Amino acid sequence: MQQLRTDLELADREAIATYLQSEFPFLEDSGELSPHVGGRKAGLARLQDFQLEKYGKQRNFLDGEVSQLSPYVSRGCLELEELRQWALKQSRSKSVETFVSELAWRAFFHLVYDEEGDRILQDLEKPKVPMNQHQRSLPDDIANGTTGIPSMDTLIKMLKESGYLHNHARMYLASYIVHFRKVCWRAGADWMYSLLIDGDLASNHLSWQWVASTFSTKPYIFNRENLQRYGGSVLPGDPKKDDPFNYSYEELAERLFEGAYTPEPSGRSSGQYQ
Ligand SMILES: Cc1cc2nc3c(=O)[nH]c(=O)nc-3n(C[C@H](O)[C@H](O)[C@H](O)COP(=O)(O)OP(=O)(O)OC[C@H]3O[C@@H](n4cnc5c(N)ncnc54)[C@H](O)[C@@H]3O)c2cc1C
Repeated sequence: MQQLRTDLELADREAIATYLQSEFPFLEDSGELSPHVGGRKAGLARLQDFQLEKYGKQRNFLDGEVSQLSPYVSRGCLELEELRQWALKQSRSKSVETFVSELAWRAFFHLVYDEEGDRILQDLEKPKVPMNQHQRSLPDDIANGTTGIPSMDTLIKMLKESGYLHNHARMYLASYIVHFRKVCWRAGADWMYSLLIDGDLASNHLSWQWVASTFSTKPYIFNRENLQRYGGSVLPGDPKKDDPFNYSYEELAERLFEGAYTPEPSGRSSGQYQ
C-alpha cells in the first residue's frame, strides 16, 4: 500500500492540500481550505475562544454561541472528560450545566453503541408514527440541495461546503427528510454522516433515530414559527406559497401522520434540544 508523506516540508496547510490533490486527483477541489483547522492545538485554541457563559441561552439559535468542538472530539483531539473538567472550573452556572449535559448525550450514545453494536443501524424501537411508505434512497434534489425550499437548500449547501452544521440545523434537516419527505431515516443518516467533518456513527445514527421516533417517544417536527425564531438571521425566509412548514403543530401532525400522533398541548414539539 502506498504511504503518504508526513515530512516537515508539508507542515503548512496549503502544501498539504496541494500534495493531497496531486495524490488523489479524483477528489473535488473547491479551491478553499476547510475552515476547521485540525489537531489538538487548534482544538484547545477553539476552546479558549468559546464563550461558555453565553451557551445556555444561545445554543438553540443557529447564530448563537456553541463550541464547535465536535470535529476535535470526534477525531480524538479532545477528550469529553477534559471538557467536562474545564467547564466545571469556569463556574457552576446554568450554562455549565447545559454544556455538561450535552457532553453527556454524546457519552450516552456511545454507551448505547457499545451495548447494541450494529443494531443502531436499524430501528431500535417501533416507530411511534407510520413509516411504512418511506423510500429507501435519498432523492437527488436533497443530495444536490435543489429542493426549492430556500431554508433547506441553505442548510444542505452549508453541510456540503463546510462539513459542519449546528445541532438545530441537523435536527431540521433530518426532520424534513424523514417526516416531510418520507425518506427512510437510514438513507438520510448515511448521507449526512458521509459529509460531516465530525461524523460519528453513534451520535449521528442515534440522533436520526431520535428524530424519526425509533429511539424516542415521539417524532421531532418543526414549523415555520420555530424556524424563524431559531434560524431567522441565518436562513432565508421560505415562500409562503407551498411552504410545507407554515402550519401549527396540530395541523402538521394531521398532515404528516394522519392523526396517528398528537403533539403536546404547548403546541411545541418538545425534546432534548428545545
Ligand atoms: C441528525 C443529527 C446528526 C448528528 N450527527 C453527529 C455526528 O455525526 N457527530 C457528532 O459529533 N455529533 C452529531 N450530532 C450531535 C450534535 O449536533 C453535534 O455534536 C453538535 O452540533 C456539534 O457542535 P458543537 O461542537 O458546537 O456542539 P456544542 O453544543 O458546543 O456541544 C459540545 C459537545 O457536546 C457534544 N454534543 C452536543 N450536542 C450533542 C448531541 N445532541 N448529541 C451528541 N453529542 C452532542 C459534542 O461532542 C459537542 O462537540 C448530531 C445531531 C443530530 C440532530
